Amino acid sequence: MMRIGAMFSEVFGALFNKPRTQPYPVEKIPAPPRYRGKLVYNPETCTGCMLCVKDCPAEALELLVIDRKAKKFVMRYHSDRCVYCSQCVENCRFGCLEMSNDQWELAALNKEPFTIYYGKEEDVRTILEPAAAEQTEEPCTQPA
Ligand code: SF4
Ligand code: SF4
Repeated sequence: MMRIGAMFSEVFGALFNKPRTQPYPVEKIPAPPRYRGKLVYNPETCTGCMLCVKDCPAEALELLVIDRKAKKFVMRYHSDRCVYCSQCVENCRFGCLEMSNDQWELAALNKEPFTIYYGKEEDVRTILEPAAAEQTEEPCTQPA
C-alpha cells in the first residue's frame, strides 16, 4: 500500500509535470503518411472496370454509370461501412483511389455525411437530381 507521503509527492509532482497526453482537439498532430483515412476517388482516369466494387469486403462502394462510353461515372462511397482495408486502392490499376491521411475526423450526429458522392461536379449533380437519376443505369454493386 502506498504511504500517504509518497502519494502526496506523486500528486504534487503531477501538477508541475508536462502532460504526457496530446491536447486533442486543441492541437492536432499530422497523421502518419500511410494512415488510412477517408477514401478519395479521382474520376479522371476511372474506366468503370468495377474491380474496386467487386473486391470491397464491406460493400462500401457503388459505381453509378451515367454514360459508360463517355466514361461518366459517380462513385457512391459509404464511409460508415468501410473497414479502411485499402483493398480497393491496391486493386485499382488506374490510380483513381487513395486513402487520405488528413481526412480522418469522420464522426457525425446523423447518417447523411457517411454517404459520399465522388465524381465530376456535373455528374454528381445529375445523380442527385431525382429525375435525371432515373436515366442512369442500375448502380453497379457486388454480385449477390
Ligand atoms: S477501403 Fe476496404 S472497405 Fe473501404 S471501400 Fe475500400 S475495399 Fe471497401
Ligand atoms: S478499380 Fe479503379 S478504374 Fe476500376 S472502377 Fe474502380 S476506381 Fe474505376
